[in-house]
Amino acid sequence: MDRYAVVGNPISHSKSPDIHALFAEQTKQSMSYDRIELPRDGFVDGVKEFFAQADNKGLNVTVPFKEEAFELCEGLSDRAKRAGAVNTLYCNAEGALFGDTTDGVGLVNDLTRNHQIELEGAKILLVGAGGAARGVLQPILEEKPALLTVCNRTLSKVDTLIQAFADLGEIQKSAFDALDSKYDLIINASSASLSGSLPPIPEGVIGSKTIVYDMMYGNEVTVFNNWALSHGARKAIDGLGMLVEQAAEAFCIWRGVRPETKAVIASLRG
Ligand code: NDP
Repeated sequence: MDRYAVVGNPISHSKSPDIHALFAEQTKQSMSYDRIELPRDGFVDGVKEFFAQADNKGLNVTVPFKEEAFELCEGLSDRAKRAGAVNTLYCNAEGALFGDTTDGVGLVNDLTRNHQIELEGAKILLVGAGGAARGVLQPILEEKPALLTVCNRTLSKVDTLIQAFADLGEIQKSAFDALDSKYDLIINASSASLSGSLPPIPEGVIGSKTIVYDMMYGNEVTVFNNWALSHGARKAIDGLGMLVEQAAEAFCIWRGVRPETKAVIASLRG
């Protein structure tokens, strides 16, 4: 049986095995998908050991190894080169390690397909300039928004992103306290929610038509989404759909079959 896994540290919380089990059942693929916790200094050895077994076909990579995975690959997709990170690994027929990233397309598919949100012509604010923000810039710019502003505590990180994506479209830089207009869509790609805190965004960015998307997800409404709804946002979406959509893209790369995601998202929400 073909074997897949997600590697990270920590990994016990990962929903990826549940998602891929549902995809495999739905598409009638004979495969298994496990969680593997690798020591923080043991990523390279762990990956090599995994792919040394003939039945082991692919890995998803999560925190804190996405950049290390990028460095390790012998071949990279264009979008992985842009993102500087890899979340999907597989070997070609010659045994060379290839890397792709599906997080960005996962976000855009969740927004446009599952929530019918039009990104073309929209005014979009992206909060944060870390790995998650970098990974979504290419697919967002490809949708041709009217305005894409990136705000971050450390502004020099936004400058790096502007340089790296300059040929794909314009990115406006802003400090939090300089934000002074309303946005159609605000995406929280900061890790503030992980510690239950809010990025210091002025409430004036939210209008009655604003939709917010927090990449974070959980059983309760996230702190960021609660804040946005209490200031009049039209709709608040969490990152569970992005998680399922990035998994669907990885599954498609490995198995050549695209699973349906709506029922899987509904099942995970219970
Ligand atoms: P990084 O550590 O690479 O970046 C963190 C970012 O958050 C930086 O821009 C940092 O700003 C900012 N930040 C952290 N704390 C605060 C705060 N209190 N106020 C304002 N800004 C803050 O993390 P990632 O980019 O990898 O992850 C970001 C989030 O996205 C996480 O919550 C992660 O769980 C989520 N995610 C969800 C996915 C999904 O499938 N739903 C996929 C990938 C990520 P500064 O640069 O100034 O330090």
